[in-house]
Amino acid sequence: MRRPLSRRCGRSIQFFPMFRNRVYYRIKPAIPRPLRLSIRRWLALRKRSRVQDIWPIAPGSQQPPPNWPGWPGGKKFALVLTHDVESQWGVDKCRQLMRLEKGLGFQSSFNFIPMGGYETSEQLRNELTRNGFEVGVHDLRHDGKLYHTRGEFSKNAALINEFLRDWGAVGFRSGFMLHNLNWLHDLNIEYDASTFDTDPFEPQPDHRNTIFPFWMTAPADSKNARGGYVELPYTLAQDSTLYLLFREKTPEVWMRKLDWVAQHGGMALVNTHPDYMDFQNEWSLGEYPVKLYQEFLEYVRAKYDGQFWHASPREVASFARAHVCNVKPVKSVPTTNSDSPKPKVWIDLDNTPHVPFFEPIIQEFRARGYDVLCTARDAFQVCDLARQRGVEFIQVGKHSGKNRFRKAAGLFYRAAQLLPLVMREKPLLAISHGSRAQFIAANILNIPSVLIEDYEHADYPPTMRPKWEIVPDAIDDEGLFCPPERARRYPGLKEHVYVRNFRPDASVLAQLGLNDQQLIVTVRPPATEAHYHNERGESLFFELMAFLLNDPRASIVLMPRNAKQAQWMRQNKPGWFSNSRVVIPNGPMDGLNVVFHSDLVVSGGGTMNREAAALGVPAYSILAGQVGAVDRALEKSGQLTFVTSPKDFMQKIRLVRRSRPLAVPGYPTGALEGIVAHIEEIISVEYARKSSRKAVPVAQSRRVTAA
Ligand SMILES: [Zn+2]
Repeated sequence: MRRPLSRRCGRSIQFFPMFRNRVYYRIKPAIPRPLRLSIRRWLALRKRSRVQDIWPIAPGSQQPPPNWPGWPGGKKFALVLTHDVESQWGVDKCRQLMRLEKGLGFQSSFNFIPMGGYETSEQLRNELTRNGFEVGVHDLRHDGKLYHTRGEFSKNAALINEFLRDWGAVGFRSGFMLHNLNWLHDLNIEYDASTFDTDPFEPQPDHRNTIFPFWMTAPADSKNARGGYVELPYTLAQDSTLYLLFREKTPEVWMRKLDWVAQHGGMALVNTHPDYMDFQNEWSLGEYPVKLYQEFLEYVRAKYDGQFWHASPREVASFARAHVCNVKPVKSVPTTNSDSPKPKVWIDLDNTPHVPFFEPIIQEFRARGYDVLCTARDAFQVCDLARQRGVEFIQVGKHSGKNRFRKAAGLFYRAAQLLPLVMREKPLLAISHGSRAQFIAANILNIPSVLIEDYEHADYPPTMRPKWEIVPDAIDDEGLFCPPERARRYPGLKEHVYVRNFRPDASVLAQLGLNDQQLIVTVRPPATEAHYHNERGESLFFELMAFLLNDPRASIVLMPRNAKQAQWMRQNKPGWFSNSRVVIPNGPMDGLNVVFHSDLVVSGGGTMNREAAALGVPAYSILAGQVGAVDRALEKSGQLTFVTSPKDFMQKIRLVRRSRPLAVPGYPTGALEGIVAHIEEIISVEYARKSSRKAVPVAQSRRVTAA
């Protein structure tokens, strides 16, 4: 799993640069440029040796966003060329650069400073766009003060918007790559390009750690009519870093990084400056031979001709808007400062399957520095399993029984029990896989809630509705419990979230008194207390047991849902257990290992079937309730078979031994990444909303330093 790069670089760099930057940009005009360059060069060279493991390539940044469709036309990678024009020197070289690129069959985007030290003529802009090049806005005054205070930024944004409109531009990049991605919603842009995958040499070195475009959602109360913008991090080092600071004599660093980006299907986004290019191909203090850039372009053409999507940033933004907009990965939480505590999230474990599901999610959020409040209901095996897996939790409430009235009363009683704890802890967000008690409590306390649900026929009465919902992509808008614009989707199954960490352990068979020569059928009885319970399901279960016991080869591992169900079976069906044909595990069992070492699984619930499907074990469902979209999708792909009558058992269930692989077959990843990215996005939206509600001077002065 990816770690934010800032953690690897140490925390101290996070606060210091902002302070240092402010001082630097204040005294900068007084320092002669050669001296400035020498100081920067000296600092950068010292740093270069320390950051080798994250620059120019940051491991982990190659992970595509969830549901990434690949580039248009099936191209291997995307190539985007951009230039920032810093001075009149640069303006004077724009046409030469344009001709050079055109001659090699490339086009690029030029970003101009609207109120800087030069005039951007309409004639030049028109000439560029006529030739198929793009024009964007580069900062406002390029003085390093754009983000000094929120108020100043708003005023600047209004001016920038005028230039965007006048120039017909949709893209923006800040001077010195300073950025506050939340404030940028003030701009009328399709994309911003002020960030980078990795660049420890920038004054605000908070890496986005991705070589893909990503989406920034505007907070609901923002005036942004587009709903957000696409962020395009540059992924190849800036020319100034390579040639002015490091005096690299070849474009080798670019070529090596390009190969890596191409290999991983990412976006190669280059940011160069005509100001620093010497068209006589000479070296000087502030210039490098343009042939270094030219050689790079020739390399791309020669090695990858026909294999890459050469697009303008505007085109990439429009493609990304259409394809990553639904996924909205936010690589770091831009609303919070790394030197201020991150928001607290509250996760409630209400049922046994929630424990393995939330375990990696809780781990991930704690690793990212969030405070996680975890509550658990003393029901089924929730608390036992949580303790066994080392999940820290606070136990609140218990199981209230099967009776309908008691169940409903128990639900509200548990919600009431949660209230004092939650009022004290003040989480920003409540998250669960369908804990109704949590939603009641969250709604009473006006805490935004997130339902992670994979069954659209579950029942959430109005008082128990979540604000947000995260579902597998098999579920369409009709199956949502919140408005579609607040729903997010992840690829695959919720079981993929934890099956990925599964390691087969054959000792589970010995624990059950079985061996790997037997035909092992694992059976999960239908839930007798869940919302999808019905009588038909139970009788089908008994018929199934009769069918299985009829085959003398079959050994049956019965996995009841709780001790009560196990006890009932032992008492009422002694015949099953008399000759050890049927075994029930003692206490909580590593269910995944039982499933993996089975030849087939027949389940009256959803989770175990999907676990089997995720592990590549033949799965049969005797679930008698309404079939959900996720299970239908599994049935369609042949990973799950529904058996609804004894006749079906005979015809469909194949009682054969399967050859067990030593390891789990490769399963799609992206479920955990998708869910975590969605939650982080929701946190940033809710955090921004909460901060704007109580905007006070103190909070604002904090926000100034926020990245
Ligand atoms: Zn600049």
